[in-house]
Amino acid sequence: MNHSERAHASLSASGASRWLACPPSVRLSEQYEETTSVFAKEGTFMHELSELYLSHELKHITKAQLNKKLKQMKQNEFYNTEIERAVKTYVDVVTEKMNEARASSKDPLILIEERVDFSPYVPDGFGTGDVILIYGDRLEVIDLKGGKGVKVSAVENPQMQLYALGALNNFGVLYDTQKILMTIVQPRLDNISTDEMQVEELLEWAENEVKPKAELAFKGEGDFMAGEHCRFCKVKATCRARAEENLKLACMDFQKPPLLTDDEVVEVLTSIDQLLNWAKDVQEYAFAMAMNENKQWPGMKLVEGRGSRKYSDENAVVEALTAAGYDRDVIYKKSLNTITTLEKELGKKAFQELLGSLITKAPGKIKLVPEEDKRPEIKASPEADFQ
Ligand code: SF4
Repeated sequence: MNHSERAHASLSASGASRWLACPPSVRLSEQYEETTSVFAKEGTFMHELSELYLSHELKHITKAQLNKKLKQMKQNEFYNTEIERAVKTYVDVVTEKMNEARASSKDPLILIEERVDFSPYVPDGFGTGDVILIYGDRLEVIDLKGGKGVKVSAVENPQMQLYALGALNNFGVLYDTQKILMTIVQPRLDNISTDEMQVEELLEWAENEVKPKAELAFKGEGDFMAGEHCRFCKVKATCRARAEENLKLACMDFQKPPLLTDDEVVEVLTSIDQLLNWAKDVQEYAFAMAMNENKQWPGMKLVEGRGSRKYSDENAVVEALTAAGYDRDVIYKKSLNTITTLEKELGKKAFQELLGSLITKAPGKIKLVPEEDKRPEIKASPEADFQ
């Protein structure tokens, strides 16, 4: 399957955390075109590469077919050794799980890139499960996440639960499934996250949570609700509900007393990331409209920033300086590649073997974060700031 051509349902599994929280976002977003970011394209490539390896693993293609296709894929703009290693890590995890399924059941069902249908709960609802394993009393869905920005958890993840629901709907009658396992593999962040639930729990969630919200979303009804899920909403820059939520901070009653209370300071601190993200989204949207569509925003104008100087011809610069008698040390600077670059080039294992003992880590900058943050608390000392 060409992954970039995977069909997308309007109530998609990948958008479920958004439309479950904010049902009217689905219809409101329809006026905006579907766009594909470079990260999404890279993710698509990783899925295609993993499908190739898994197809060989499952003997759907021969070694010669694998190598031929691999040769083509290595020409892709997204192919590099880091992506290759990440995909291999995912393929290893899936292979291990497939072997476990084979060991514990005589006739496991192993599917890759399978379209699943959860339309009994979500109008026109379907999606594509990366890997589905059904064996014994278990149904497992495995999903590859190619991103390296934010760790994605499988715990109570509605996308994974909808894939499981779809798989259960497609194949449930053929098997005596009792237990649902859901695994996200995000190799570039060393993240393997799993969750499990009983079939009854999944069906109860589908009936009581998904079905009513999906109906509202399909009809464009329900209440707007801003939150973390707005990050992937197409109307995030101009949505009034999100603006009002963020502007609540600006409307805090700062009249009396003259100094903020501790609770008010904490309210500002805990809202700041969301507020900054929202402000950045509005800024990017307004800029794109002004640049690309000549939009005139009242009281605003486009100006040119300070340009930066650069050489028009680096070879000519070297020639001119050499001819003028300047030494190579003046012309060039030598510098080591960064730790990240070398780790990427060598691979984590070789990097650790060769350079592990030569890497030191300076303590990170101390930050004030909400107490739910997973990092352990440290005790501040007044001197720490001045060391
Ligand atoms: S930006 Fe947030 S609140 Fe507004 S429609 Fe989208 S998901 Fe809902």
